[in-house]
Amino acid sequence: MIFKPRRKPGVADVSDLLNNPLVQWQHKYYVWLLLLVAVVTPTVIPGLCWGDWKGGYFYAAMARLVFVHHSTFCVNSLAHWLGETPFDDKHTPRDHMITAFVTIGEGYHNFHHQFPMDYRNAIKWYQYDPTKWFITVMSWIGLASQLKAFPDNEVRKGQLTMELKKLKLKADDMKWPTSSNDLPIITWDSFQEQAKTRPLVLIAGFIHDVSSFMDEHPGGRHLHSQKHWQGCDDGLFRGVYWHSNAAHNLLAMMRVGVLRGGLELESEKAIPPSQRLEIIRGQALARLRADAASKEHHGIYDGERRGEAVGQWDEIQGLPSPPLSTGALDSGDEAGSQPEEMDSLRLSHN
Ligand SMILES: [Zn+2]
Repeated sequence: MIFKPRRKPGVADVSDLLNNPLVQWQHKYYVWLLLLVAVVTPTVIPGLCWGDWKGGYFYAAMARLVFVHHSTFCVNSLAHWLGETPFDDKHTPRDHMITAFVTIGEGYHNFHHQFPMDYRNAIKWYQYDPTKWFITVMSWIGLASQLKAFPDNEVRKGQLTMELKKLKLKADDMKWPTSSNDLPIITWDSFQEQAKTRPLVLIAGFIHDVSSFMDEHPGGRHLHSQKHWQGCDDGLFRGVYWHSNAAHNLLAMMRVGVLRGGLELESEKAIPPSQRLEIIRGQALARLRADAASKEHHGIYDGERRGEAVGQWDEIQGLPSPPLSTGALDSGDEAGSQPEEMDSLRLSHN
C-alpha cells in the first residue's frame, strides 16, 4: 500500500467479464450504486416506514458499513494470527472458528492460502463457511457447475506433513539411544573381558550395560546374572523379543557398544519401537545419499537389483531404497532448531 511494487502482476484474462453486459453496467455505475444500496436504501426504509431517518442512517447504513469492513478485513489480520496451521506453516494464515464467525466463513484461512482454487474455505461440511454451503446448494439445483476442489489425496498429504512435524517436535524433546554410528565397536574378546567387571548384555549386536536396571527387572537380579546373559545372543533373542515396547525402548537406552561383526541381526529388531517412525532432515538425507552412493559403488547392495534403472529411481525419489541406519532418529541439536527443513519420513521394515 505504501510502496508501489516494481513488477506489475501479470495480465489476467477477464474477457468474459468485459463481454458481460450486466457486469459492465455495474462497473460503469459503481459509485452511484454504492451510495444507493449502502447509504440511501437503509436510511430511506426506516425513514419512510416508521419515521426514524437518523436511526436508519446511523445504524442500518454507517454502523453496518463500519462493522462489515472491520470483519471483512479481519481476513488480513485475525486470520493471519489466530489459530492452527493444519496444512502448511510456511506462511502466516491460520484456521480458527472465531475468525470464521467474525468474517462470515473466511476463517479457515490456512486451507484457503494452501488451496486457493478450491471453492471451499473450510474443508469439512460442518465447518462454518456459508459461502461454501451456498455454492454447494446452488450446484445441487443446477445453478452452479464445475466447482473446483483440490484433490483430497493432496490435501491429506499437507495435513500429514504437519502432523509429522508435530511428531518430530515431540521426538526432539525426548532422550534417545546413542546412534550405532556413535557407539564404540568392541571385539568379542574385549567384550568378554569387560563383562567380568560389569553386567554387560549382548542383544542384536548391541552391548548393553544393565547395571542400572538389574534390581528393577521383574524376576530379580538372578535372571540377569552374567552367566545367564553373557554370550547367549541367539537364545536371548527369543526371550527379549517377547518383551513389551517399553522394555525395548528402555533396553536401547542402555547401549554402550556395538559388537564387531555382530550387527547382522540389526535391521528392524535393533530399532526400538519408539523409533520406528523415522523423520529425517535435509542434512541427514544428504548423508544417506552419500552413504548409499558409496555403498552402491562398493557393491554392497545386490548388484542385480540395483542396475541403471534403480539408480535413476533413487535420484528421482531422493532416497536410497533400503533403510541404512539402525533407526536413530537423527535428532541431533540441529534437528530441533529448524523443523521446517524436514524432508521426508521413513518407516522401518515392520
Ligand atoms: Zn490471507
